[in-house]
Amino acid sequence: MNQKNFDVIVVGAGMVGAATALGMARSGMRVAIVDAQRPKFTFDPDRYDLRVSAITRASEHIFQNLGVWTEISGKRVCPFCHMHVWDESGTGDITFDSAEVGQELLGYIVENSVIQSALHDALQKSPQISFLAPQAPGMLRVDSHHATLTMESGEWINAALVVGADGRDSWVRQQVGLPYPTVSYGQRAIVANITTTLPHQATARQRFTHEGPVAMLPLANGQSSLVWSVPSHRADELIALGDREFLSALQFAFGKPLGDLVAASSRAAFDLQRAHADQYVSSRVALVGDAAHSIHPLAGQGVNMGLLDAAALVQTVAEGRLRKRDMGDLTVLRPFERLRRGHNVAMQTTVAALEKLYITANPLVVWMRNAGMRATQNLPLVKNLIAEYAMGMRGDLPNAARMK
Ligand SMILES: Cc1cc2nc3c(=O)[nH]c(=O)nc-3n(C[C@H](O)[C@H](O)[C@H](O)COP(=O)(O)OP(=O)(O)OC[C@H]3O[C@@H](n4cnc5c(N)ncnc54)[C@H](O)[C@@H]3O)c2cc1C
Repeated sequence: MNQKNFDVIVVGAGMVGAATALGMARSGMRVAIVDAQRPKFTFDPDRYDLRVSAITRASEHIFQNLGVWTEISGKRVCPFCHMHVWDESGTGDITFDSAEVGQELLGYIVENSVIQSALHDALQKSPQISFLAPQAPGMLRVDSHHATLTMESGEWINAALVVGADGRDSWVRQQVGLPYPTVSYGQRAIVANITTTLPHQATARQRFTHEGPVAMLPLANGQSSLVWSVPSHRADELIALGDREFLSALQFAFGKPLGDLVAASSRAAFDLQRAHADQYVSSRVALVGDAAHSIHPLAGQGVNMGLLDAAALVQTVAEGRLRKRDMGDLTVLRPFERLRRGHNVAMQTTVAALEKLYITANPLVVWMRNAGMRATQNLPLVKNLIAEYAMGMRGDLPNAARMK
């Protein structure tokens, strides 16, 4: 390692950390990005990744501003123009249509590996960025002048600011002792790619069942990407089934809007939790993405929230730098937390309430939620407002996320 002194060190080169590092570099800062794992996200045109993200229009704008959207969309994305959400136990459903909100599409389903590989290519090409991976950080020391990150190899680097983008078990967060109250949902999300007899018609579908939500998200090859949240013990049973039994259990849970479910890829499952750091910043440290908050995937917002954090932090730090302020000073960092915390808490609370509302079998609640769905479906203004929040077009957005 030749260079030792940077403006910013980002720990974690997932989607959010990579976006943060690129944004900082594009604002003229010298950046080191460190990841404990060697990045292995190469794009394979013949293989579809099991992990996908529903990407909002706000995230699309962030990627455009980082100069990576052309590469992402040129590789493989599936725009979706409609959403259909319904309840297994009743008559209520809601549909969203991009035309109703004056947009050509609601968002995109993108494989995580497509996003990662585009971001990592851009990291490697930037002369402002040193990409240090695989490198496990061993110690973080913060003083009034700078933060020093010492690797397990014994090498060290300095910066004014360290960004923790190292996911929900964040090492950075633990080093500075920021609490991260966590509630397990007691659920796991099963993911797989499913072949169906009917076309998906650019529609993201989600059925709420008493076990948890089942989402089928459109992919560019006509398959659907499954995200099926179920109690953890049930996930273990479903993962262990043969393909035929798995598809028949899924067909029962999801119904027939996509016709027959005829083939499934390999499957994987992820533990689900709700967590939120009490603070996003401390002296010379800021947390972004899952390091700061973790949310149920039912609304497809986790990485979108993280990308908004990244854009807000870059904006806040760049403004501080323009005013010749110390970028690691708490008074410079606090506006970032103010810009993001309210939005993230609101999103997390809404998603947690939805999850609770739909898991119950209480007949009164079931009746009320179906009535609520029907009422919402008939109130275009309310429905459009929900759609605009889901697309990331509402709220106090950082500049990089705004519609041009
Ligand atoms: C099934 C499922 C479906 C989802 N669907 C959606 C969706 O549709 N839309 C959406 O917006 N979100 C979705 N999410 C949420 C989304 O995947 C996460 O919010 C997002 O991946 C978090 O990104 P991140 O970069 O903050 O963290 P991570 O992806 O966890 O990346 C953390 C990085 O830090 C590195 N790291 C970890 N520890 C260290 C260390 N000690 N030192 C150095 N590096 C370290 C890791 O190697 C990794 O590269 C979904 C989640 C699940 C589980």
